[in-house]
Amino acid sequence: MLIDQFNRVHDYLRISLTDNCNFRCFYCMPEEEYEFTPASKLMQANEIEAIAKTFVGLGVKKIRLTGGEPLVRKDAAEIIHALSKLPVTLTMTTNGARLHEFIPTLKQAGVTSLNVSLDTLQADKFQLITRRDQFQRVYDNIHLLLENDIRAKVNVVAMKEFNDQEINDFVRWTKDVPVHVRFIEFMPFQGNKWTSNKVLTWQQILQIVEAEFSFLPLKDELNETAKKYIVPGHAGTFAVISTMSAPFCGTCNRMRLTADGKMKNCLFSKEETDLLTALRNGQDIIPLISQSIHAKAKELGGQFSADFEHIEASAIQNRSMITIGG
Ligand code: SAM
Ligand code: SF4
Repeated sequence: MLIDQFNRVHDYLRISLTDNCNFRCFYCMPEEEYEFTPASKLMQANEIEAIAKTFVGLGVKKIRLTGGEPLVRKDAAEIIHALSKLPVTLTMTTNGARLHEFIPTLKQAGVTSLNVSLDTLQADKFQLITRRDQFQRVYDNIHLLLENDIRAKVNVVAMKEFNDQEINDFVRWTKDVPVHVRFIEFMPFQGNKWTSNKVLTWQQILQIVEAEFSFLPLKDELNETAKKYIVPGHAGTFAVISTMSAPFCGTCNRMRLTADGKMKNCLFSKEETDLLTALRNGQDIIPLISQSIHAKAKELGGQFSADFEHIEASAIQNRSMITIGG
């Protein structure tokens, strides 16, 4: 088992399949022209499988595929198929644009729940965020998941003066549609122009919802990052992921593997452990994984505190979100 200095058991691995993406979300990608990592530097399908197997041997029970956009990778179906053979819950975070091509693959792999990102219910605003005209495609693909009995959690990055007016539109969507909307507090990463006054906090989100709906809290599951709520009578739920105003580091069970094979023990860690080069050199990667977990900081990668209004974003040393894998 992978246990850190604060007695946290790490049994959840998030694997980025690529830093490439068919969208250009401004809060995720650096603004300057960005060169995607060449394929030779990315983990190959067999390398992903080998590293994942090692983690499973160390107690990992859940794997999430992410990116960049995991479904732009040419061998995404092959990777999903290979990882579905492991004794883990397999899931994915996707922008949803290509989901319609992958329903049979996902069903065959036994995937029962997916996270799809959708920050607005307005087509023109969608284009502003992603620089792509794909709102209807993503919206329809969320419904396609539901028709195929795949649970859909919808990730919404909540930002002041951007989509705060739409919080209750999303909650209204949960009335008849069994979607699980998750509002994520806007987080700082390299090049994403984060400022604390753009963060719409958990408490502010609840105040907005309260003005229109009565709602009840739902029971939190172990290691859960989302604080969940239901409007009685609604088919779906809503939740807040309060990384900035109320981090959940105390129960963190998560580890990350970037598409170029570097292990990150925290989303905000500046240190990385190069598992891919070690694997390619025939080295045993287990001691490297254990050392990385042992070195994990108590909270927020040791880089800032929950007093987010005073964060100096430019002082945080980290990759951009698209190259970490959210
Ligand atoms: N391309 C996929 C997608 O968009 O779902 C997977 C990768 S994306 C980096 C993973 C998640 O991170 C998405 O839900 C996205 O909205 C979220 N994300 C990206 N940048 C963020 C930021 N600065 N603050 C909060 N969430 C962010
Ligand atoms: Fe691509 Fe997802 Fe980042 Fe948007 S949030 S640019 S879809 S990786």
